[in-house]
Amino acid sequence: MPDGKGFEAMDFVASAGVDPERVDAEALRERYRAERAHRVDTDRTAVVELTGERARWAADPFTAPVPRAPVADTVELVVVGAGFGGLLTAIRFRELGFTRIRLIDTAGDVGGVWYWNRYPGAMCDVDALTYLPRLEETGYVPRDRYASAGEILDYARTLAAQHDLTDLALFHTTVTGLRWDEGAGRWMTTTDRGDEIASTFVMVADGYFNRPRIPAIPGLDDFRGHTFHTSRWDHAYTGGADGGPLTGLAGRRVGVIGTGATAAQVVPPLARGAEHLVVFQRTPSTVGVRANGPLDPGVVADLAPGWQQERIHNFNAIVSGRRQPVDLVRDGWTDYHQAQRANLLHMEALRARVDATVDDPVTAEALKPYYAYFCTRPVFHDEYLETFNRPNTTLVDTGGRGIERLTERGVVVGGEEYALDCLVFATGFEYGTAYTRKTGFDVVGRDGLRLSEKYATRFSTLHGLMSRGFPNLFMVPGGNMQSAVTLNVLYTLDENALHAAHVAAGTRGRGARCFDVDAEAEEKWVAECVAHARDNAEFLESCTPNRFNAEGDLSRRALANANHPLPVLEFFDLLRAWRDEGSMPGLVFDE
Ligand code: NAP
Repeated sequence: MPDGKGFEAMDFVASAGVDPERVDAEALRERYRAERAHRVDTDRTAVVELTGERARWAADPFTAPVPRAPVADTVELVVVGAGFGGLLTAIRFRELGFTRIRLIDTAGDVGGVWYWNRYPGAMCDVDALTYLPRLEETGYVPRDRYASAGEILDYARTLAAQHDLTDLALFHTTVTGLRWDEGAGRWMTTTDRGDEIASTFVMVADGYFNRPRIPAIPGLDDFRGHTFHTSRWDHAYTGGADGGPLTGLAGRRVGVIGTGATAAQVVPPLARGAEHLVVFQRTPSTVGVRANGPLDPGVVADLAPGWQQERIHNFNAIVSGRRQPVDLVRDGWTDYHQAQRANLLHMEALRARVDATVDDPVTAEALKPYYAYFCTRPVFHDEYLETFNRPNTTLVDTGGRGIERLTERGVVVGGEEYALDCLVFATGFEYGTAYTRKTGFDVVGRDGLRLSEKYATRFSTLHGLMSRGFPNLFMVPGGNMQSAVTLNVLYTLDENALHAAHVAAGTRGRGARCFDVDAEAEEKWVAECVAHARDNAEFLESCTPNRFNAEGDLSRRALANANHPLPVLEFFDLLRAWRDEGSMPGLVFDE
């Protein structure tokens, strides 16, 4: 099946041997309710601060900082974050005539999540021809249908080089504050390297998944073995920096906590390298068919100009529920939506896939997810489930409770201690915490207004991107920030970058020193999000706890902290129409 040419299992339910007539829907729903019920009473939100000894879990293992003198100068745009969000912002601003642009990043290079996530097996789940931006401009043809993390990082470097974006970039530099100077009509950005950079505009594009999440597990610091987070992979310990086998793990017992999208990718290479691998599971993922394989180098040669935008639109239309005459991507994401398959049957097929793949019936049962499809982020992999057939791999299911504690020797679950030499945290990233905790710095706008105070109880934006009291500032929206969301995050990053660049160019074009958001327009935008904030609540409340449903308790989240109600393509059509209208309604300008 995985021939790399396309998704062949179009009738996934039938091919998995599921007979719709024999599915007991009510029994399954009852099982779903039970799986949720015994998870919601555990505290799933406690994380530890990565300071002191624990700072090692966030440190950069990839490149050493280079000493340099502090920078003090004035540019047109400061971009906080040099991942794809930052790069696309810089490119869009350049296209509208802004030249002096400084990217600032804690990392040692461009790439953002792809700089950090270099764990073995890391790749992108969105097909490369859709995911990698501006392929028609760079002329790059991805090697495989789904690109590896290394290929994506190289591509980010290619984009940065082609647009000369790194000449002013400051790497291994963490922003410590942003302050609006009303007199000068500028932002002042300060950093941990002593820099003071004035700029007319600022974009904060620091990513959704920028803080590694280490859960507050009792005994966390007692474990004497080696530990690291998947986004700070220790190749010096494991080997395999060149993409080869993890020779450093020979003879070692390795544990991995987590079974999400990252774990699914890292478990197979870990099992190949370690003497023994123990996978600690709290919630099983839905693991669909990946079907990766090489792309024909001539795959795009005969396509008409504009093919990538067409593909991106086709993908985003389908995954936001709009059936299309043709499915250009034909993979596990689009197949589910395009076939408009019943959620329950799809889940039955995924569970049948576990039975068909995993030999040991007890392990297979534990790996079956009992919740609705899209409660958690779907995963696609053709080796993850298979790995549990290896004699050197053990699944330890924690029955939804998480691991009990760490000891000097290893991990305890159900009163049993699993001795380990090394423990890998595939525990994801902080999500849904306060905005200025995510950024790591506060933003001080007009009249001393602090963003931490303004956003203390709820987000408040226009277009999910700008906020009153913070002139000439853009913030790339993360989840629930009153903007549109889609699986294809880079599409939203690029559209937001384009929108910000137009607002900045429009401000300059009017001869204004700054824009700010009109109070009424902002309230109206927030009200639209609030009005629809509970549209999806019934579904989310039926799900096992996870980051999409505020770990099982939606009341933890303010109503305004929601996505915009429009589907992604319609949302960006709305912004495009707003730009085309020309008068920039909802913004006020200081001459
Ligand atoms: P994640 O989805 O947050 O998964 C974290 C895992 O750790 C979950 O299995 C979680 O269990 C488990 N966990 C957390 N605390 C635990 C505890 N105390 N005891 C036991 N288990 C614990 O993180 P991720 O897999 O790194 O993925 C993060 C995001 O990155 C994804 O949602 C995705 O958007 C992105 N990603 C994308 C790709 C791609 O292909 N484009 C690849 C990898 C990641 P529960 O499920 O019970 O919470």
